[in-house]
Amino acid sequence: MSYDFDLFVIGAGSGGVRTARMCSQQGMRVAIAESQYLGGTCVNVGCVPKKLFVYASSFAEEFRAAAGFGWHVGETHFDWPTLRENKNREIERLNGIYGSLLDNANVTLVEGRGVIIDPHTVEVNGQQYSCAKILIATGGVPYVPDFPGSELAITSNEAFFLDELPKRIVIVGGGYIAVEFAGIFNGLGVETHLVYRGPLFLRGFDDDLRNVLKEEIEHQGVHLHFSTDIEKITQLEDSSCRVALNNDESLDAGLVMYATGRRANTEGLGLENTTVQTRPNGSVVVDDHFQTNEPSIYALGDVIGRVELTPVAIAEGMALTKTLTTGESTSIDYSNIPTAVFSQPNTASVGLTEQQATDQYSDDLSIFRSHFRPMKETLAGGDGKMFMKLIVVKSTDLVVGCHMVGEGAGEIIQGVAIAVKAGATKSDFDATIGIHPTAAEEFVTMRG
Ligand code: FAD
Ligand code: NDP
Repeated sequence: MSYDFDLFVIGAGSGGVRTARMCSQQGMRVAIAESQYLGGTCVNVGCVPKKLFVYASSFAEEFRAAAGFGWHVGETHFDWPTLRENKNREIERLNGIYGSLLDNANVTLVEGRGVIIDPHTVEVNGQQYSCAKILIATGGVPYVPDFPGSELAITSNEAFFLDELPKRIVIVGGGYIAVEFAGIFNGLGVETHLVYRGPLFLRGFDDDLRNVLKEEIEHQGVHLHFSTDIEKITQLEDSSCRVALNNDESLDAGLVMYATGRRANTEGLGLENTTVQTRPNGSVVVDDHFQTNEPSIYALGDVIGRVELTPVAIAEGMALTKTLTTGESTSIDYSNIPTAVFSQPNTASVGLTEQQATDQYSDDLSIFRSHFRPMKETLAGGDGKMFMKLIVVKSTDLVVGCHMVGEGAGEIIQGVAIAVKAGATKSDFDATIGIHPTAAEEFVTMRG
């Protein structure tokens, strides 16, 4: 039987676009449906605009530091609409680039929402397309728990397009998005309260790193409310919100932002017309080669609920391309994925936390820590600290974990991750000459 396409991709985000382009370049006839925006979450309401906002919010700290270096900055003023509009323009430019990438790769773009009609048919805007294979790359959407007044809360999706900045914001959650946006709003001059249900945010990261970041963030002026839940939100007359906490206190704020995780975007996708299996949280079940229970249907990226990061969605897309175009079943290695939280200061890690390493290697471990005042602070007059940590298996000398809090942590850990992935030992780190004077040289000079 001949189909309209060899592969029909639903969702033109990080994973979908990469797979569509690569498969088409390898000779498959590929179509891709997109219902909202080219580039998906990362480009439109994720990594890219978030990082631009992080840059914007870090100027306040730079202005403060400047005086010690002899710069008199004078009065400063931040204009939110300028940042928002410049960001929107940049995103539109990137949307265009994504369109060109698909076009140049001969991928047929179908604008609209894709619905799976049967294992070989996708419908978009009333038109049906037959295809040998379907790829579900529909990503995720913010999740807000249901409680009285939850409809008054915004999510990160809306935070990128606010008409104006509030004077005070309450951010709920203790994951990547909550911590990053707390830094953004605080840096832009908004009184920022972070409310998290657990005793310490960034559960799953190394405990030392979490504790150091807590100190640094508090030092920057973010109000942290840990072991605290929200009971309800009510609207006040001036359209601000009153947030009732479970400790009998309340916080009034112009905005309440929920960053309590994301859920797979599978609603209305037509999965009931297939044998594709999903978990209770909606994520799609796939095997090691991204194949669902329905042999002609694949899924990857955030929708499969594994590691919700752009480079992972792209790596999964590359692996699937190889499987589909060479017949060689290909999977990806999820170990030692480096990651950064673009908090202020940055936090980044690769490999095992100390707890994970202890579970795996018991007391066969050496832990190296360095907690110091970075050189820039000496003249800037601040007392912000940096933190670095290496976790080494004593018997093999292998470096199995590397963690950092401090300016440029994301940039630095990316390089260190190559060494960790390649199986470097502590002796290899020690034999590497440092670059002086940098903070990163600590990673090759830690001896104690
Ligand atoms: P997405 O990029 O979400 O793409 C899915 C696409 O499918 C969307 O464009 C959607 O409109 C479309 N779609 C959905 N349903 C349909 C349908 N039925 N028909 C047609 N189209 C459909 N990751 C990092 O690595 N670094 C970061 O700094 C980072 N920052 C982030 C900040 C925020 C605020 C958020 C929310 C996420 C961030 N992420 C970051 C995570 C990253 O954005 C995701 O892991 C990544 O975008 C996942 O790619 P994907 O292809 O699976 O899905
Ligand atoms: P995360 O999964 O990182 O964090 C969710 C947070 O919400 C956790 O602190 C969790 O608490 C809390 N939470 C969950 N449910 C509730 C609830 N019902 N009530 C109160 N709190 C709750 O999700 P995010 O939304 O921050 O980000 C989604 C994903 O996007 C991230 O996991 C990451 O993969 C990706 N991302 C990556 C970034 C980067 O690479 N820099 C930046 C932003 C996002 P608990 O820990 O107690 O369960």
